[in-house]
Amino acid sequence: MEFAFTEEQEELREMVKEFVEKEITPFAEEMDRNNAATPELFKKAADMGLLNVIVPEEYGGPGLDSVTVAMIYEELGKGCAGIATSIAANSLASYPVLLKGNDEQKKTLCDLLNSGGLAAFALTEPGAGSDAGGVATKAVKDGDHYTLNGNKIFITNGGLADTYLIFANTRKSGGIRGLTAFVVPRNTPGFSIGKKEDKMGIRPSNTCELILQDVVVPESARVGREGEGFRIAMNTLDSARPFVAAVSVGLAQSALDIAAKYAKERRQFGQPIASFQMVQAMIADMAMKVETARLLVYKACWLRDQGLEFSKEAAMSKCYAGDVAMQVTTDAVQIMGGYGYSKEYPVEKKMRDAKIMQIYEGTNQIQRLVIANKILY
Ligand SMILES: Cc1cc2nc3c(=O)[nH]c(=O)nc-3n(C[C@H](O)[C@H](O)[C@H](O)COP(=O)(O)OP(=O)(O)OC[C@H]3O[C@@H](n4cnc5c(N)ncnc54)[C@H](O)[C@@H]3O)c2cc1C
Repeated sequence: MEFAFTEEQEELREMVKEFVEKEITPFAEEMDRNNAATPELFKKAADMGLLNVIVPEEYGGPGLDSVTVAMIYEELGKGCAGIATSIAANSLASYPVLLKGNDEQKKTLCDLLNSGGLAAFALTEPGAGSDAGGVATKAVKDGDHYTLNGNKIFITNGGLADTYLIFANTRKSGGIRGLTAFVVPRNTPGFSIGKKEDKMGIRPSNTCELILQDVVVPESARVGREGEGFRIAMNTLDSARPFVAAVSVGLAQSALDIAAKYAKERRQFGQPIASFQMVQAMIADMAMKVETARLLVYKACWLRDQGLEFSKEAAMSKCYAGDVAMQVTTDAVQIMGGYGYSKEYPVEKKMRDAKIMQIYEGTNQIQRLVIANKILY
């Protein structure tokens, strides 16, 4: 077994760390207040090569393996889980095409990502969250094109993306058997951006509603076969879950670091609060949780990179690391007392940011269903 990153990975990690310390952490509070990323941030992230990390070399990208991508997202998560979410959404939105698209679709999407473009993955609807079978957006075929009608909600990068991976139903009766994936460029007539969400956390990440009114796309916009959308969505989520988990680990690690530093500086009863054993126990528990979550993340990614079955471990990593992010950020606030609860210190934001880690890309209840299914059936 090998637990160390390679020299090349360490160099890359150092570059991302510097980017986070210069471009993300100092602006995290302001971006949270503004409910938006700083202008130019995604351009700078693109210049750093952070928006096309999974684009294969044959399509002009770096073709990084999952372990390396998780390492990058963990570093981003330390600075701001919202920005990390938006950057990671490019991988989430590209997997459907990379896994099941044809050569032309791959080339078009990869060219876009290589040139700094943003993509969005749009499955969720008002009536379809955990149950993808509830997707009501319809895609009706007429000759060599489809007409799409419906609404998507809670879409990461919804208001910013250049292209969208839309899941619609090609069956009149609906259900998962009719779910079909389409690539819809932003400028397609009939496609528009709806309400922007005003969220509890990850506020720098853009989350929007999408509206499709008689959106006509050619047959060549369909990814895979009609009815293959559910499988495509599930395979995509399997691959992307360890990345969400990596963001959770970075988020939790940064909250632990801040709380530990504070515990050594803050004095009560004539001594640093770090000398109290109850505080020490919290720090030790937080560190154990972060470390076990990290091991699960890299194990799931390693399995995927080896071409081995990884979907149970992907769900485990997402579920466990999400729960850990919530627990550790809550404990960080506790260690910092009233100051932790104040917006003047960063852990308050981190605690709000952590909550989404238990909800998106399949709630942690759904992850537990996936894990139990893999064990029982
Ligand atoms: C900030 C943000 C960003 C997002 N980004 C995207 C995105 O980019 N693309 C996209 O498509 N979606 C996105 N989503 C949507 C997200 O994936 C869904 O919110 C999530 O899957 C849950 O769906 P829901 O909100 O409809 O909750 P529901 O499915 O209604 O669930 C409500 C509650 O019921 C529980 N529940 C539901 N079914 C079961 C069951 N069978 N067993 C046990 N418990 C169950 C859930 O765990 C949850 O606690 C985003 C959401 C948010 C808030």
